[in-house]
Amino acid sequence: MTPDERRVELEAIAAEVRVCQRCRLGATRTNAVPGEGEPDTEVVLVGEGPGFNEDRLGRPFVGRAGDLLVKFLATLGWRRSEVFITNVVKCRPPDNRDPEPDEVAACLPYLHRQLEILDPALVVTLGRHSMARFMPGARVSQAHGTFAPADPETGARAALTFALYHPAAALRSSEVERQSYADVARIPAALLEARRRRGEVAAGPSPDPIATRSITAQAVAAEPQGAADEPTFF
Ligand code: SF4
Ligand code: URA
Repeated sequence: MTPDERRVELEAIAAEVRVCQRCRLGATRTNAVPGEGEPDTEVVLVGEGPGFNEDRLGRPFVGRAGDLLVKFLATLGWRRSEVFITNVVKCRPPDNRDPEPDEVAACLPYLHRQLEILDPALVVTLGRHSMARFMPGARVSQAHGTFAPADPETGARAALTFALYHPAAALRSSEVERQSYADVARIPAALLEARRRRGEVAAGPSPDPIATRSITAQAVAAEPQGAADEPTFF
């Protein structure tokens, strides 16, 4: 699939999500939050569900947790516009309660379709609700900072999953924040391993570390300075 075909398909999903009423969260949301980012990226970040600010703006991770997430990415030299960011449920649960199992089940087909189109090498889960989809049975207290093959049932057919604590948890605890920075530093190695398993990097000794920065197949180098943080909306 070409990047343009991906963009069109992702926009079609986003249009469905914006008017979706498949579960009760559709009745209480202000804006659905389909997700946004680079259609041609190797890295997809999956949170739990929109919060207050995301519901207001219709964009993922735009509040304080989002600011911290952007800082995490910056330590790798990555911008949010170079990855794809979405959530397990696309509409805000009232009072930021956890989504109910039937709400998650109703919404998962959207994430499944997004992952089929994006076909990422690496899925970074943010928090335990997201991790539970990709690493069934894992505990975030043990799995954070580690990777495992993503459950192909999710739609990510040839990806590794890398587990992080939710950035909101890092905002509540400086120990979790410190650990999260250490975990994030392990993402490039996981991406290299994911590429190796996908056969995109010829097996050989010590791959060029700069390669870990080409997280989009073509867009990064082509992006003009300054326009870089303009998000692609879906
Ligand atoms: Fe539809 Fe998902 Fe929103 Fe429920 S949470 S209304 S399934 S988009
Ligand atoms: N927390 C999430 O899990 N997702 C968002 O989009 C924002 C905050």
